[in-house]
Amino acid sequence: KRKKIAERVTSLMDKPEMIRNIGIVAHIDHGKTTLSDNLLAGSGMISMELAGKQLFMDFDELEQARGITIDAANVSMVHEYQGKEYLINMIDTPGHVDFGGDVTRAMRAVDGAVVVVDAVEGAMPQTETVLRQALKENVHPVLFVNKVDRLLNELKVDKQEMQLRLGKLIDNINKLIRGMNEEKYKAGWRVDASAGSVAFGSALYNWAISVPQMKSTGIGFGEVYDYCQVGDMKTLAQKCPLYLAVNDMVIRFLPSPLKAQKERVGVIWHGDKTSKLYKSMEGCDPHGPIAFMVTDISVDPHAGEVATGRLFSGTLERGMELFISGVAKSNRVQQTGIFMGADRVEVEKIPAGNIAAVTGLRDAYVGSTVSSNKEATPFEDIKHVSEPVVTVAVEAKNTRDLPKLVEVLRQVAKEDPTLNITINEETGEHLMAGMGELHLEIVAYRIQRDKGVEITTSPPIVVYRESITGKTTGPVEGKSPNHHNRFYIEIEPLEPEVVDAIKAGEFSMKMEELERRNILISKGMDKEEARNISGVFETNVFINMTKGVQYLKETMELMLEGFMEATKNGPICREPVQGVKAKLMDIKLHEDAIHRGPAQVIPAVRQAVQAGILMANPAILEPFQNVFIQVPQEQMGGAMSEIQGRRGMILSMETEGDMIIIKAKAPVSELFGFAGAIRGATEGRSLWSTEFAGFEPIPPAAMLETVRQIRGRKGLKTEMPKPSDYLKA
Ligand code: GDP
Repeated sequence: KRKKIAERVTSLMDKPEMIRNIGIVAHIDHGKTTLSDNLLAGSGMISMELAGKQLFMDFDELEQARGITIDAANVSMVHEYQGKEYLINMIDTPGHVDFGGDVTRAMRAVDGAVVVVDAVEGAMPQTETVLRQALKENVHPVLFVNKVDRLLNELKVDKQEMQLRLGKLIDNINKLIRGMNEEKYKAGWRVDASAGSVAFGSALYNWAISVPQMKSTGIGFGEVYDYCQVGDMKTLAQKCPLYLAVNDMVIRFLPSPLKAQKERVGVIWHGDKTSKLYKSMEGCDPHGPIAFMVTDISVDPHAGEVATGRLFSGTLERGMELFISGVAKSNRVQQTGIFMGADRVEVEKIPAGNIAAVTGLRDAYVGSTVSSNKEATPFEDIKHVSEPVVTVAVEAKNTRDLPKLVEVLRQVAKEDPTLNITINEETGEHLMAGMGELHLEIVAYRIQRDKGVEITTSPPIVVYRESITGKTTGPVEGKSPNHHNRFYIEIEPLEPEVVDAIKAGEFSMKMEELERRNILISKGMDKEEARNISGVFETNVFINMTKGVQYLKETMELMLEGFMEATKNGPICREPVQGVKAKLMDIKLHEDAIHRGPAQVIPAVRQAVQAGILMANPAILEPFQNVFIQVPQEQMGGAMSEIQGRRGMILSMETEGDMIIIKAKAPVSELFGFAGAIRGATEGRSLWSTEFAGFEPIPPAAMLETVRQIRGRKGLKTEMPKPSDYLKA
């Protein structure tokens, strides 16, 4: 049977108008996994009896134990609509932000999203987050209102109230869409029950229906209500099967790659719009050059690393030599395949518009652009909502496993782009930075279980940021070790709007120069400065304000290297720098290239920037998280004191049925151990999640003590460094 489905899938792959690439997104516990399972069952991928019992897309034990999805898994299925067969490529996404940024990456691969919302709870914080990510990537939403049975069985609403509540929920979703993007809202991106871009149902009981289907089948809200009330879910599931309502909606309202790529390519790729590559991507042309964006890397015990992603142009085939952004030599495609549940099925060719799984792309990372064209402009980076803010040191239990550990860490970093692996140069320790304590726990668990390396991890440590609140008085002079080259650099805060634009991915060096300049000017940067940007690292920029200097061009790469080193390991306590603008005002270079090589230029620029930061009112920033807690009224007191004991601030409290929803904010450093503590404080009856909430400055009074602690832990001398420490004569 599977083989037959595989044949139907492959026969649809080269008809882009018959394809829908979709993701299912939801707040945790709203029913995404149950919905995915039942859609698969409906398409004949797994038996109906198994659906709902077996978590088809959660194949990790840990996920099963916790009952939540960690890994994004991909599935293709065939659906018949109005007598025609369609191919639906579905990418699963995790529902918990603490697990990494997979939702964002999945959005890059798809053109449409089914937003699942619990009928009782309505839109929740992560509903908002995933909706925002979808709109940002130009991914169209449709709405599935799940758990409608709960309205009757738990809230005991009557027919009228049920309709009222559903109407209110849809209004709220549209309000969110409107608030995020008024233009899109007006251009028809809102969800509309009477048009059919909303379906109502119960994923658990396998039924769903939309307003147009109510009209065509004659089964109205009244009957749905009656079936629910007598508990006859079986009949309802036969008359209004879930997969029919949801898949029909997907096919009617979510765009095919042919339509979507016209809208999307200009948003996610900023190269030359007159190029052959752009035209081919826009037209979803299977005969054009290859443009493939990797959104997931997984390891297959037999085939090795599998790069999964979206093919925007060309046709992938085994044996092709392809170029990966940022890598000089080409990689040869070994296998091309598509997903069927957990299985990868090999197919001979994959044309533009599909989700492809490729082996042989050894140098590819999540986020890599893969092309047949060596000079291809890469896609815009996938921007994650969260940043790695928690670090643990990792050690092999047996020292002889060290080489293996190094290799395994390299591999997990490839698989999870939200993970940041570094080595502490003082101590030689391997450091692993992630989104939160839970995220790192999961990675550590996988290193042991999947990769077979026994490890120990240190207690978690917060990652700080270094920044400035003032500017240098005039340029700081950086001298090369041979004293023959001098660099004069001013340091000042980068405009906050520019910082936000970089974080949101609205601005990058990949853009064409004019587009780049215009964005910066619109964000408040001086015209002269906007014209002279030479490099961007994280949220720091290097600007060349000099004119007519000899040898400048050939020295720039080295200067940027020095700037990058200075901002990667800031001067205060070697934490990353954010929001700094460095302006090169003047420069004196030795005439002989031999005397202005890397060993001269890099340290001179690095030291000038480091000293300059210390002269510009340096500050230390600490990360915060928003915390959302759903808790029964009786347990509310326990939850509140758990937050308040952690330097937390309660932002709001709402009552929803007999549950209280608390929104709060607290420093990440205080949230360690929160999972266990809140479970204890609420007798295990709370549901909670966190979300990155940005960095905030540590009050000046506490700063020196924090600096002392961080430096001490890193084996550095504990006093606050002075500019003169970096400006060695
Ligand atoms: P996810 O975290 O979004 O993947 O949510 P799950 O699919 O794991 O569902 C969370 C919980 O809600 C599970 O206990 C499901 O059995 C339950 N659930 C899912 N759909 C429904 C539904 O339609 N009605 C009811 N009453 N419960 C549901």
